[in-house]
Amino acid sequence: MLPTYARVDLAFERGEGAWLYTAKGERYLDFTSGVAVNALGHAHPDLVKALTEQAQKVWHVSNLYRIPEGERLADRLCAASFADTVFFQNSGAEALECAVKVARKYQSASGKPERYRIITFEGAFHGRTLTTIAATGNKKYLEGFGPPVDGFDQVPFGDIEAVKRAIGPQTAAILIEPIQGEGGVRVASPTFLRALRQLCDQHDLLLVFDEVQTGIARTGEMFAYERSGVKPDVMALAKALGGGFPIGACLATTEASKGMTVGTHGSTFGGNPLAMAVGNAVLDVVMADGFLEHMRKNALLLKQRLAELKDRHASVIAEVRGEGLLIGLRMIPQASEMVDELRAEKMITVAAGDNVVRLLPPLIIGEKEITEAIGCIDRACARLAKTHARAAKVAS
Ligand SMILES: *Cc1c(COP(=O)(O)O)cnc(C)c1O
Repeated sequence: MLPTYARVDLAFERGEGAWLYTAKGERYLDFTSGVAVNALGHAHPDLVKALTEQAQKVWHVSNLYRIPEGERLADRLCAASFADTVFFQNSGAEALECAVKVARKYQSASGKPERYRIITFEGAFHGRTLTTIAATGNKKYLEGFGPPVDGFDQVPFGDIEAVKRAIGPQTAAILIEPIQGEGGVRVASPTFLRALRQLCDQHDLLLVFDEVQTGIARTGEMFAYERSGVKPDVMALAKALGGGFPIGACLATTEASKGMTVGTHGSTFGGNPLAMAVGNAVLDVVMADGFLEHMRKNALLLKQRLAELKDRHASVIAEVRGEGLLIGLRMIPQASEMVDELRAEKMITVAAGDNVVRLLPPLIIGEKEITEAIGCIDRACARLAKTHARAAKVAS
């Protein structure tokens, strides 16, 4: 395999709920969920059932024919959101590619083909295709891959004056994550999102939300934008929507998608019956009565316990932030050290930008997993505090 990942020397054979097991039977507490993907944990019986039942009917037919399970999933996503229409893909980056095409085509169909540029934000992450690395603007991702795809203007996250200055005659849209995930769990304030909405309305720009990481209940709402009351025109989803089955979706209003007529976009695999069956099963669970309330209650409990740990280990944890079960611990030592220490405790987490350790447990965790996690974090912090105190002493 191409060595683009610095993989940990650890393999899991099976999973159950919030737990992963190696072939030797070692058990790990999964607070990564495959980077916010396995929202319902591992081997959720409803998802297993949906996938295996569909596997015995039909796997793939192409988008040349109707896919009833896909139509149903699209209807449900629209009913639950601002959107009127959906295009399905296989990943987050593809959902963003579609969103960029929708935005540019909207302007072109409105008689303004010169408007193709999209304002994006520093610290953003939108994927690893050539277009989405250009949207992200991260030099590390762009280096050596030729001229970046043209049409993206980055401004500082949260800086409304910079957004205003960046709007020009060629601007088509503004693209933002309501909470930056990879960037380090940086939350856009509702005020900022409202100001973006206003600017978009004023200049006839589309507001595009990347909810690939935040969407499908991760933040305690079905979609993170609900918290701000600001509705986008276009939204990208992926990660949790398939609960572990690859899926992506670009949602839009009728008006925003008016340029996307027959022949303007396509995908061979996007929205195939296996993915659609699982997507519907994920919604069955997440939209069931009481699911969100239960999850929010546990998220609050976890956050309270983390706040106590932060107070107790003030030399290790600088800040606890995020919404719902998208939680960031901004660290004083290197975030990667904490990830390693937690793995030694048999708890897996993932680092993010801004020296943050992300906690992304499955949304189904309960008090038992929270207590377990707090114990692991407490012990890891105690060890880090000791190591760094010793290092500081040696240095002085
Ligand atoms: C993960 C992620 C993507 C990219 O998704 P892929 O499925 O890896 O292409 C895009 N945007 C955000 C916010 C993400 O978290």
